[in-house]
Formats: sequence, C-alpha cells, structure tokens
Amino acid sequence: MPTLPKMCLNGEIVAYEDCKIHAFSGAVKYGAGVFEGIRGYWNDKAEELYIFRLPEHLERLRFGMRVLRYDEIFSVEHMADCLLRMVRANSVRGNVHIRMIAYIDSDDELVGCGPIGLVCGAVPRTPSPKLETGVHIAISSYQRIADNALPPRVKCTANYVNNRAAELEGKRNGYDGVLILTNQGKVSEASGACFFMVKDGVLYTPDVTSDILESITRATVIELAAKDLGLKVVERSIDRSEVYGASEAFFCGTGWEVLPMISLDRLASRRPRSFLARPSRKLDHDRAHQSLFGQCRRRFARDHGCAGGSQ
Ligand code: PMP
Repeated sequence: MPTLPKMCLNGEIVAYEDCKIHAFSGAVKYGAGVFEGIRGYWNDKAEELYIFRLPEHLERLRFGMRVLRYDEIFSVEHMADCLLRMVRANSVRGNVHIRMIAYIDSDDELVGCGPIGLVCGAVPRTPSPKLETGVHIAISSYQRIADNALPPRVKCTANYVNNRAAELEGKRNGYDGVLILTNQGKVSEASGACFFMVKDGVLYTPDVTSDILESITRATVIELAAKDLGLKVVERSIDRSEVYGASEAFFCGTGWEVLPMISLDRLASRRPRSFLARPSRKLDHDRAHQSLFGQCRRRFARDHGCAGGSQ
C-alpha cells in the first residue's frame, strides 16, 4: 500500500511528492541513517490511534543517533510531536505502519556528523494472511553482521543490506523468509523480526548478544509469556539443530507481529500453532490492545507531558 499523502520533513508537514533529500547526502552516500518502524493500531470504540510503545521506539532511535555520533540528538518530545502532527495531517483512522528516519543530511566526507534530517510517514497496514498460515523458513547462507562491524542493535539503514541480501536469497529459493546465523554459527534473527522457539514447555530466544536488534516486541513477548502465561523464558544462544527439534517456533516484530514458523529447511514443526495461539491472542485481542497500548500511551503522557498517540 502506498505511503499516506502527508509526511513530516524536518518539522514541516509536506506532500509525499515534496519529501526529498539531496542525492549526495551522507544518508544516500554512506547509508548514514537510523530508523524506526512503529505501529499505530486504530481503536474503533475509543476512536483513537494507539501507538505501540512509542517512547521505547524513540529512545532506541536516540541511541542509534548517539552511536552514529550525530551532531544533534532530537528529543523524544520533538520526534513524538513530528509523528503525531503527521498522523493528524493524514486523518488516520485505521492501522498504520509509521516509519521515522534520522539521517545525515549534509554533502560531506565520510565522517560528516550533521546537519541531521528527520522524516516520518505512515503506510496503511492490514493483517498479513501469513499470521494465520505461518511461514516456511530457510537458514540463510549469509551471516548476520557482527556487533564489532555494524552493530545490529543500532537500527542503521546500512545494516539492512545484510537483511535484504538474506531475504532475497530465501525468497529466490522459494521460502517465505530466512533465519540468519551469527558468524559463530548460532541462531540470530530473521530479516525483520526476532526468533522464539518452544521446547519441553520452555520458551527460548537468542540472547541480546546474538547479534540481534533489541526488539521492542521481543521484550513485550518475554514480559507477557512470563507474567501472563506463567511460562519459563530463557534467553541464551541457540544452535541451528535445536530449532529442528523445537515443538513450535515463531517470529516477532513491529511489522511482522507474532508470526508462526511452520518449517525450517523444510523440516516441519510438530505442533505449529498450539502454543502460539496463546501469546498472539494476548497481543491481538482488543482488550489486550487497549490495556497494553493504553498503558504505553498513559505512561508516555506521564513521562513526556503530551498526548502520546491520541488523535
Ligand atoms: N530484528 C530486525 C532486524 C528488525 O528489523 C526488527 C524490526 N524493527 C526486529 C527485529 C523487531 O524489532 P521491534 O520489535 O522493535 O520492531
């Protein structure tokens, strides 16, 4: 689906067609940008857009800006204000995927650190049919980028050349996606989501030193699985062959939501959906949305003294 007609560029609401940066900016030349994908879930009853964990997304963006040594680190309040004005300018009344990018705007040499541009826009999103059917996945022949090369916990645009290459290869070979291994041969993550598996009733996920993005949805699943479902959750490094023996597995992320994996390298999971039905019901259920997203919104409003997602 196309991006909604109004975007926010450096604090100004502009038409999609006019949202441009220079072809020689550091963002284009060197991939010097950090970004976030953020979900807005429209709630019909409340007539409000609930933005999922907005403060966490904006803090992660600020972390990325610091690691890339940007001259200017935008405040959470400023970025939230740009995002909310863009949402309002589009009169959003449906689920959206919001993209925000903070990038090097100057035509400078490699080490240019500013000025910094900030852009955001939104794309309408309907639920993927794959949430029901699940996905067939292959181990990628591409290694995951390593922390001491291009840190995956920084959501830098350049990192995604790795994810893109892996995903393209998987799709070319007839799979829905890929699971990427670290340069140590351990399970890392998918091209746009984190990985979980179930074995003997325990939920396992690669720990944060497995060259993953420190996913906000992953943290939510861990919290819900432990608190609401009473499951034991273990974060540790995971071998490829352990996944073959898992009873169930799934991916999670802002864009992917909670997506069942039904086979890895054409080896099918024994019980593809039984466990997953539980956390996804928790995540998808209207009431859970209201309480989860409502909590985020209220916490945001409290912490940052603004509306935090309501239109
Ligand atoms: N890993 C990668 C590589 C991603 O791009 C994403 C999507 N942001 C995730 C994991 C999931 O992270 P989050 O739950 O914060 O969206």
